[in-house]
Amino acid sequence: METHLADFIRHTTAGREAEEILRRCVHCGFCTATCPTYQLLGDELDGPRGRIYLIKQVLEGAEPTAKTRLHLDRCLTCRSCESTCPSGVHYSRLLDIGREVVEQKVPRSGSDAFMRATLKNLLPRSTVFGTAMKLGQSVRMLLPGALRAKVPPLSSAGVRPHRSHARQMIALAGCVQPSMYPNINGATRRVLDRLGIQMVEAAGAGCCGAVRLHLNAAEAARDDARRNIDAWWPLLEAGAECLVMTASGCGSHVVDYAHQLQEDPDYAVKAARVVLATRDISEVITAEADALGALLKDCPPLPESARRLAFQSPCSLQHGLKIRGIVESLLTAAGYTLTPVADSHLCCGSAGTYSVLQPEISKRLQANKLAALTAGAPAAIASANVGCMGHLQGGTDVPVRHWIELIDERLSA
Ligand code: SF4
Ligand code: SF4
Repeated sequence: METHLADFIRHTTAGREAEEILRRCVHCGFCTATCPTYQLLGDELDGPRGRIYLIKQVLEGAEPTAKTRLHLDRCLTCRSCESTCPSGVHYSRLLDIGREVVEQKVPRSGSDAFMRATLKNLLPRSTVFGTAMKLGQSVRMLLPGALRAKVPPLSSAGVRPHRSHARQMIALAGCVQPSMYPNINGATRRVLDRLGIQMVEAAGAGCCGAVRLHLNAAEAARDDARRNIDAWWPLLEAGAECLVMTASGCGSHVVDYAHQLQEDPDYAVKAARVVLATRDISEVITAEADALGALLKDCPPLPESARRLAFQSPCSLQHGLKIRGIVESLLTAAGYTLTPVADSHLCCGSAGTYSVLQPEISKRLQANKLAALTAGAPAAIASANVGCMGHLQGGTDVPVRHWIELIDERLSA
């Protein structure tokens, strides 16, 4: 696509990147067919090709309006369009650039501004969020239905192994996961322990930064990345093998740290090393498949009633990290029978803070996804991302679990 960027951005790093991305797009529209918001709303401007065109106009000097911002707000950043695009258009990067410019030119006000400021300040602060979550959990049954659906019952991280191992891996605790689903990292710790690996969490690490980036606070997101790198660095220098991500949403953000900090002379090199060291937990367990297989051999078979399982592959796993099929293989090896899930490439509507900011679209996507996941009458739904888990569980009585919790339970049987 021919582009003529305006002076305000042409000679910046963001401008050069946007131009390169825009030039790749040949306007074929293949991506539109796999875009969840286009499928629901039927408006070209609520699909990737339309949004690319809107961003191009803004970067070429057209004045954006509240309507421009709305079409960009409605994007889930699910990256399904990137998986479909035959030209390799890095849509999500262009969206980040476009959103930042539009945010400055069309400032928000009223309840929209208040809600975004609240989310930006509350979610990434795990202590504050954890206190609020505990309070919500203590009065959960008294909460109105819509709010109760967002507050999972109180749970624990389970038994903590006490052995030490020479092999160490750093796990990201994250921001909302420790208070909503502490057993995810608890289960990861136990599975790794059985494989002869010690999981450590770095004091001082926190939110990966995805929440703030998706709320158009790019500099605050870079601060989150810098703080995490500072917390992880001594452990990496001391020989930790890798950084384990138990939430695919966080993982797909951390692997972008090198890009986010490319212009920071103090962090660019460190960020590149962090990216190289980052692994999704499914990649870590797959690398230990022989040892896992030996452990599973000694486990009793799964009861028939628990065998049927639907796997929800989060967008951040399949489109962001491009990890496809390996969680499914691990679950099958553990004795589960995976039920078919139609339209598995489509987003469930969670998408970070999207379910709060765009509740109507989010609810429709949640209903569609749950219909697809439960069509095969599974005993449980497995996921790989904390946000999707909470969102899906809010709409169904079928238990929604992280897949590593299921592996942990198999090994504990
Ligand atoms: S599929 Fe790729 S090249 Fe085609 S319109 Fe979409 S982004 Fe552009
Ligand atoms: S990221 Fe998802 S919602 Fe946004 S344009 Fe691409 S496919 Fe559509």
